[in-house]
Amino acid sequence: MAESPQLYALALGSNRPLSARLTPKRLLHAATTLIGKQARVLAASPILSTPPLGPSARRFANGALLVESTLPPPAMLAFLQSIENELGRRRYRRWGARSVDIDIILWSGGRWASRTLTIPHAAWRVRGFVLTPLLAVAPNWRDPRTGLSVRHLHARLQKAARQG
Ligand code: AMP
Repeated sequence: MAESPQLYALALGSNRPLSARLTPKRLLHAATTLIGKQARVLAASPILSTPPLGPSARRFANGALLVESTLPPPAMLAFLQSIENELGRRRYRRWGARSVDIDIILWSGGRWASRTLTIPHAAWRVRGFVLTPLLAVAPNWRDPRTGLSVRHLHARLQKAARQG
C-alpha cells in the first residue's frame, strides 16, 4: 500500500490572520502550495470566506483539495500537521491555536481508525463549511459509512437548513 497512489479529500480552514498581509485566504493558498510539494493537487475548490459567528471581527476562510500521494494516512497526517505548524507557529504557538487547520476528510482506502486519526473525519457530514468546498472537488465520492455521495450529503444539509 505504501507505494501505491492514495487519494485524499482534504478540508482547509483558517480563522486567524498571521499578520496584516497573511489573511486567512492567503494562508490557505500558502497551505495549498506547501501541500503541492508532497502531493499532486488534482482539484482545488474556490475559497469560501464566511463571516464569523458571534462578536469576533475575524472572517473565516474554508476550502477543500483533492490530492494524490503515495503517503499512507499516518504519514499524510504528519505531513499536514507540519504544514499547520509551519504556517501557524510564529505568533500563536503559545496558546496552541493554529492559523491553519487541515483535516483529512476522505481517503481512497475507505476507513481508518486509530487513536490519533479517524477517517472519514468525525463531524464533516453536517458542516456546511466542509461540504460546500468538498462539493467542488469530489461531488461523487461516497462516504464509506453512510454510502451517500458528497453531493447527496450537501443537498441533505441544505434541506435541513431550510427546514430548521
Ligand atoms: P483539531 O484541533 O480539531 O484539528 O484536531 C486535531 C487532532 O485531530 C490531531 O491531533 C489529529 O490526531 C486528530 N485527528 C483525528 N482524525 C483526523 C483527521 N481525519 N484529520 C485530521 N486530524 C485528525
